[in-house]
Amino acid sequence: MAIQAGRNPQAFDGLVNTPVCRGSTILASSLEEWEARKLPNNPYASYGRFGTATTRALESSVARLEGGHASLVFPSGLAACAHALLAVVRSGDHVLITDSVYGPTRHFATHVLSRLGVEVEFYGPHETTGLRSRLRRNTRLVFVESPGSLTFEIQDIGAIAEQARTVGALVIMDNTWATPLFFKPFEHGVDISIQSATKYLIGHSDALLGVATANARAWDRLREGAHDLGQTAGPDDIFLALRGIRSLGVRLRQHESNGIALAQALRAHPLVRRVLHPALPDDPGHRLWRRDFLGASGLFAIELQPVGQAQLSTLFSRLQLFGIGLSWGGYESLALPVGTPTRSVSQPALEGPLIRIHAGLENIQDLIDDFSQALSAARLALS
Ligand SMILES: *Cc1c(COP(=O)(O)O)cnc(C)c1O
Repeated sequence: MAIQAGRNPQAFDGLVNTPVCRGSTILASSLEEWEARKLPNNPYASYGRFGTATTRALESSVARLEGGHASLVFPSGLAACAHALLAVVRSGDHVLITDSVYGPTRHFATHVLSRLGVEVEFYGPHETTGLRSRLRRNTRLVFVESPGSLTFEIQDIGAIAEQARTVGALVIMDNTWATPLFFKPFEHGVDISIQSATKYLIGHSDALLGVATANARAWDRLREGAHDLGQTAGPDDIFLALRGIRSLGVRLRQHESNGIALAQALRAHPLVRRVLHPALPDDPGHRLWRRDFLGASGLFAIELQPVGQAQLSTLFSRLQLFGIGLSWGGYESLALPVGTPTRSVSQPALEGPLIRIHAGLENIQDLIDDFSQALSAARLALS
């Protein structure tokens, strides 16, 4: 499906890939054709802001992979998250958001949604069964992310969706970690699923995009709001996402095996206090991960033993193969100290610094050797 979805060589002179189609004005050849173009759900859009053939190729491709009704492209993953929230709520609503949500999504909710008269409440990522007591008659949506940002808790999405349905709330999921290949949100009761395509879909750290996919129930809400706000994205970046999807399957398998092998190797190092990776058998989320997910991506975290800033600096100055920087999902490995994650009701008990690691596509022994020697250098600096 990842190879076929969104491709139509016959429509483009036999070209394997849907080309970069640029355009704002779209000309009609008659008044009748013009009238037809303006109808809702017309496959031929009336204006470039609604996307060109390149846009539609990505939207149909992600919709099929996620297993949803239809998708919309956004200029970034955060724009897709913010828009999905805005599209659903009105003043006076109550929304439940996982405490482990991606930081900027939390910031949007507490700063923008609150200002619009929406009551924002956070629930702990382990609260699956206790969620019922937080649901109200005016709860409009539950926003889930699994595994959680920085702390990697796995949630029982099916159980959450079942409870949300009892008050008529929609479930929105940030599915960026697993990608549509390793978690099928609509089979677990999700109504809107979001990808930061900046990560694994684009996969090469050279563009930003987001995609939101809805089921039939939520689609009209999602689409109308997006068009009202003028959301759109350029065809060159969209082309890069389409290109990335073709190799997503093989890349993810390599990220997965590198991530698990690196996590296991680092756990054995004396400077590492804990590894947060749901694919490791003793992780608290492992049972749910095995039940619901089809694989793991390359992103996880380690907690070090208590060390000072100087030791942390030694660690990062010794790393050769791990870049220090935001984002992830590209072919290259990254490591970043993430401080104390912002939480409202589920503060993790941390004794040492938390480091987020993205395992790239490098040779796994090279990655293990590099991180291990840097940890050992930091440990020596400690004594
Ligand atoms: C990176 C990220 C986003 C935001 O994506 P951008 O394209 O950087 O705006 C949203 N959610 C998660 C889980 C992410 O990792």
